[in-house]
Amino acid sequence: MLNFAINDEAIQGLAPIPLLTNNPYIGDMSVMAKSSIPLFNFESQSTKKFCYGCDTEKDVSAFSKHKSKKDGLQTRCIKCGKEYYRVNKVQLKQQMKVYRNHNKETLSAQKKLYSKQPRVKDRINKWRRDRCRNDPMFRLNSNIHKGVSTDLRGVKSRRKWQSLVGYTLKDLKKHLEKQFTEGMSWDNYGEWHVDHKIPLAVHNFLSPEDLDFKRAWALKNLQPLWAHDNSVKHTTIDKPFQPSLAFGGAL
Ligand SMILES: [Zn+2]
Repeated sequence: MLNFAINDEAIQGLAPIPLLTNNPYIGDMSVMAKSSIPLFNFESQSTKKFCYGCDTEKDVSAFSKHKSKKDGLQTRCIKCGKEYYRVNKVQLKQQMKVYRNHNKETLSAQKKLYSKQPRVKDRINKWRRDRCRNDPMFRLNSNIHKGVSTDLRGVKSRRKWQSLVGYTLKDLKKHLEKQFTEGMSWDNYGEWHVDHKIPLAVHNFLSPEDLDFKRAWALKNLQPLWAHDNSVKHTTIDKPFQPSLAFGGAL
């Protein structure tokens, strides 16, 4: 959600914005701010509000919400807000970037708090479930992320799984496709799984730097396998396998 607070100051004639002085909208709005055009009056519970963009009185339903405003609404109608954003996209993005850089910790704390709310959690989970159902690449990415995180039990910290295993989602996709057997496709991913040829359970690792982590997650150790075959397989190994005896990739 964009915050137009800086530009609202310009509307009230309080602060000029050097970055945007060439913008025709600003000129118009400063004039309006100084003129005696009546403002939306919250007290009167009016259903109309004046838009500074198109110079028109519109129904309040034509305005987006803005929490910190007296009347709880943006100063421009939705249509003008979009146009304003389109015209000033570069500057606004730059302003937001500066703002984010200056308020990193506060914003991250806010985000954490926000996503902890049960209704937000539910919404994110639902979004993730739907996306997993409809986008096999999202699902694959999510499963590998989960797999790698679970195996490392927190040692992964904030690193991306791609940087730990040394290949990308695209590489993995290609690698699996090459091994598709009859009937396998991304449409029925879920009926087949990504299988570790030499099972994870027999590998010996604590951190992504350990040799066995690399071996367990190496592309050549991954294959698509029908879910049924996978559940039958359990942790049997066809070939003799020697787990790494030392950590830290020393072997
Ligand atoms: Zn408007």
